Amino acid sequence: MPTLVLHAGAGGETRPERQAAIRDELQRIGDACWPMLTAGASAVDVVVEATRLLEDVPIFNAGLGSKLQADGVARLSAALMCGDTERFGGIVGLEGYANPILLCRPLLDADDRVLMGDGAAAWAREVGLPERSPVTEERLQQWRAREAGRTGTVGAVALDIAGRVAAAISTGGRGHERVGRVSDSPTVAGNFASRAAAAGMTGIGEQIVDGGLAVRLVAAVDAGMSLEEAADRVMGRILEREWEVGFIAVDHTGAWVARASTWMGWRAYDARGVYCTG
Ligand code: ASP
Repeated sequence: MPTLVLHAGAGGETRPERQAAIRDELQRIGDACWPMLTAGASAVDVVVEATRLLEDVPIFNAGLGSKLQADGVARLSAALMCGDTERFGGIVGLEGYANPILLCRPLLDADDRVLMGDGAAAWAREVGLPERSPVTEERLQQWRAREAGRTGTVGAVALDIAGRVAAAISTGGRGHERVGRVSDSPTVAGNFASRAAAAGMTGIGEQIVDGGLAVRLVAAVDAGMSLEEAADRVMGRILEREWEVGFIAVDHTGAWVARASTWMGWRAYDARGVYCTG
């Protein structure tokens, strides 16, 4: 049976009304994508569609509504990994477009599969993605007030009925970061998949990279550990180091996890039902 898990970022959102809005958006988008998976769509197609819809929600720090870097420019990153082909595609620091995840799908079949800056923008033109500013008034005001924050990356992992897994992720980064800083999201530390499992990370990117966390989790499942056990190990590392990190993951049996050391909005669908963050 298929499985789908979505998240809208770790980092400890504490405002109850904002948590409720995050839960509502995850429900709307999850409810739109779950039937695709049960009807036989591929895991790759479903995680891309879920992430595209998440990018279009301005309260999330991805796509439309991405945070701005130190110079007031939004530079977006995203990644997609297909567990079946074990191929990764990534976009780093894209300007002037609001759906970087749509550029990752065709990258899976390209020779050069991680593109940055001008090269990513050239790829967007080649693919025919319409230009669209990701900057919202709310983000501009936050940037002017020098509010940074660390939260709001979005992502999805899925298992399809053919037994394939995939992971997708999209982020505006940390906000107010040094120009040129690369988030964990378009790296294999932030988003990774194999034939056995797929994982996506969120939280402080530098900590996720230090821990090589998505690869660490998936590699443990590849080596024969259960997803639950692998997730316990990664969570143990996060807690021991007092990191602010969350993650979602699925495996080829339909097991899934959503864990975080801070509040994280997530929603999951499997053969038994629907589950969501408290
Ligand atoms: N991991 C992202 C970054 O550090 C932020 C997040 O997940 O919210 O850029």
